[in-house]
Amino acid sequence: MSDYLVRAIAFDGQVRAYAVQSTETVEEARRRQDTWATTSAALGRTLTISSMMGAMLKGDDKITIKVEGDGPAGPIIADANANGKVRGYVKNPHVDFDLNAKGKLDVARAVGTSGTLSVVKDLGMRDHFTGQVPIVSGEISEDFTYYFANSEQVPSAVGAGVLVDTDHSILASGGFIVQMMPGADEETTSEIEKRLTDMPAISSLVRDGKTPEQILHTVLGEENVRVLDTMPVQFECHCSRERVEMAISSLGDEEIQRMIDEDQGAEAKCHFCNEDYQFDVEDLQELQSNDSNSPS
Ligand SMILES: [Zn+2]
Repeated sequence: MSDYLVRAIAFDGQVRAYAVQSTETVEEARRRQDTWATTSAALGRTLTISSMMGAMLKGDDKITIKVEGDGPAGPIIADANANGKVRGYVKNPHVDFDLNAKGKLDVARAVGTSGTLSVVKDLGMRDHFTGQVPIVSGEISEDFTYYFANSEQVPSAVGAGVLVDTDHSILASGGFIVQMMPGADEETTSEIEKRLTDMPAISSLVRDGKTPEQILHTVLGEENVRVLDTMPVQFECHCSRERVEMAISSLGDEEIQRMIDEDQGAEAKCHFCNEDYQFDVEDLQELQSNDSNSPS
């Protein structure tokens, strides 16, 4: 089944909620970047939450998320748009540890337990929003819960889980974000808190193959949820050879000449999708502006 995301409201509009199945998206990221199990989980949780935060945007808006902890995995960068396209990478993909005391992938050890989580929303011509909070757990979901409460002042519950198979491929991945709207009453808040306390870990729901709708039913109660719409989600990078050419051109003729003389070419790798762009001498000469040899 292809990945998709569900947008919903609950408790007569007092709550808005998102849930996503992201198995293929995370598998694509793992395949491209060769992440090992613990970093697959760290990157996968970040991508899962990013896809839902993208779904909170409109039109051409974009969101960029950086989880910069002090752990060996290094920074995790992800971006997403309002149309279900998400991409991301982790600086050091080859980080893996034994399971933690709870028998789970030790994401906090890979990410680190101090550092910053920052969010930049590019709202086109209208606005730019930047929020930053300290990392509070390194387990990712808790860090986003803290982010929503402290940076956006929206009380939220965030869950994301990634299950890695013995061959390191992604067996299952998914998550949810539940947010209290202004004016939500005490009763609703305490019912959701109780449900969150009683429910199994998100990783168990994901392992059991629960759909995004079923995840929301578990978190909020089936009778309380009204699904607004669904949207396909996928890993997609918007890099292209043309963009890299533009970047090289912008370096100027002198720098391009240095690449020709010293390196006999140039190579650029996209961090997000690991696509390799190669330029030989002839390619580089074409990128030099044509008037470079004209008399001044
Ligand atoms: Zn790319």
